[in-house]
Amino acid sequence: MKRAELVFIPTPGMGHLASTLAFAKHLLDRDDRFSITVLVMNPAFAPTNHSIVQLIAASDTRVRFIHLPQVDPPPKELFFRSVEKFITEYVENYKSHVKEAIINHVLSASLPLAGLVVDLFCSSMINVAHELGVPSYVFFTTNAAFSGFMLYLPTRHDQVGIEFRETDPESVIPSYVNPVPPGALSSFALNKEGGYICNVNLGRKYKEADGIIINTFSELESHAVSSFFNDGIPPVYTVGPMIDLKGKTSSEDNQAKHEIMKWLDDQPPSSVVFLCFGSRGSFGEPQLKETALGLERSGHRFLWSVRLPSRDDGLAKPTDAENLEEILPPGFLERTRGIGMICGWAPQVEVLAHKAIGGFVSHCGWNSILESLWHGVPIATWPLYAEQQTNAFQMVRDLGLAVELKINYRLGSGVLVMAEEIENAVKCLMEADSEVRKRVKEMSIKSRQAVIEGGSSYASLGRLIEAIIANVTVPARKSNMW
Ligand code: UDP
Repeated sequence: MKRAELVFIPTPGMGHLASTLAFAKHLLDRDDRFSITVLVMNPAFAPTNHSIVQLIAASDTRVRFIHLPQVDPPPKELFFRSVEKFITEYVENYKSHVKEAIINHVLSASLPLAGLVVDLFCSSMINVAHELGVPSYVFFTTNAAFSGFMLYLPTRHDQVGIEFRETDPESVIPSYVNPVPPGALSSFALNKEGGYICNVNLGRKYKEADGIIINTFSELESHAVSSFFNDGIPPVYTVGPMIDLKGKTSSEDNQAKHEIMKWLDDQPPSSVVFLCFGSRGSFGEPQLKETALGLERSGHRFLWSVRLPSRDDGLAKPTDAENLEEILPPGFLERTRGIGMICGWAPQVEVLAHKAIGGFVSHCGWNSILESLWHGVPIATWPLYAEQQTNAFQMVRDLGLAVELKINYRLGSGVLVMAEEIENAVKCLMEADSEVRKRVKEMSIKSRQAVIEGGSSYASLGRLIEAIIANVTVPARKSNMW
């Protein structure tokens, strides 16, 4: 049986590395003819990725890692003007190192190179694939509807030539069922400082790839998936949900995890609302106070992951809170003792799997949505950054799979979500027999069926593998024939 090598190129940072690794493992579990090498870039501001990679690598020795040298990041000001532009420029600076690493460590080995799997901010590496004469596949760590939005951006730009504006009417975007209001678009779509145009260019570049791989399943996003069948879009493979069910990469603090799980063990079934806001979610004191009041008034038990903004304008990760008594409303901790627990970084996947959890107030990061659907836990939406507003819109309006707390909230906007809004959303979320809960339970079953033999994502991954194998035989790669 013939074997081949794939090179994965993730954007630096825990979330992208973890998702990329999850896909790498998924592929190796399915087909052991592949060998996988991951090229690791350093984060632009944080210390190197080595410890994260070691943690991930220890959980699977089948993947080879190559650490790329440090490169200079673009000026810090660019990060504040447009995160996407900053990241894509930073990744672009790695191009020559990526090419060199592939030539020196991959092409020199005995296995043929089957292609590059690049994550959504690494589209400049599609050029490296062209230069090396190998196929490229874009791996989207987000959903099909948002991927469709990215692929639609160049078409729209060629028609209107300008970014979206707050005053625009709702936009018809093919991958969403309903027209999308400007408030539900990602901030980059309204960004005049390079963020919008950078994403238009990303969308254009994706079309040069040989395939698009998405961590979703067609039963969840049937409308978005069918919107891809038009000219100029490479074949799309829906291979999810891929979830780190063992939570190996998500929690390093075992003592805290133990306390959380023990507390949950003592709570009645479906009685606890869990609040958690992703790797970068954090709130200042006024918002934490409102949230505390809203939770208390809802009367429901809660597990609340509280994290504070970093002191460097958001460049570093949020920190766990140490002085909660000073921050939260007077007497709150006393009054809610026994019915509520506050934690820092939470073992989210394990928490969502616990029978005591009845609802999830989430920032709507795509991994969080998939994890919550997998475990049949309904979400109340509170998006903060990146594509989370459109995720919230899709979950509430297009799919009827979430309760609306907020759709258009943006972190750093200065807007306060009031206690009453939180109280009402939590009450609605925790209703035992709601339509949303019923639909989420049904989708949970479908999500598990999608990835087993005979399921839609299982079949799609099979088609991807066939395509990768078939593409290796292109004439330009004579020296590396499959
Ligand atoms: N996560 C976690 N504990 C936390 C916050 C996040 O385990 O306290 C995990 C969560 O389970 C998910 C990931 O971190 O797998 C967050 O990914 P998502 O796409 O939801 O949001 P992002 O962090 O990229 O905004």
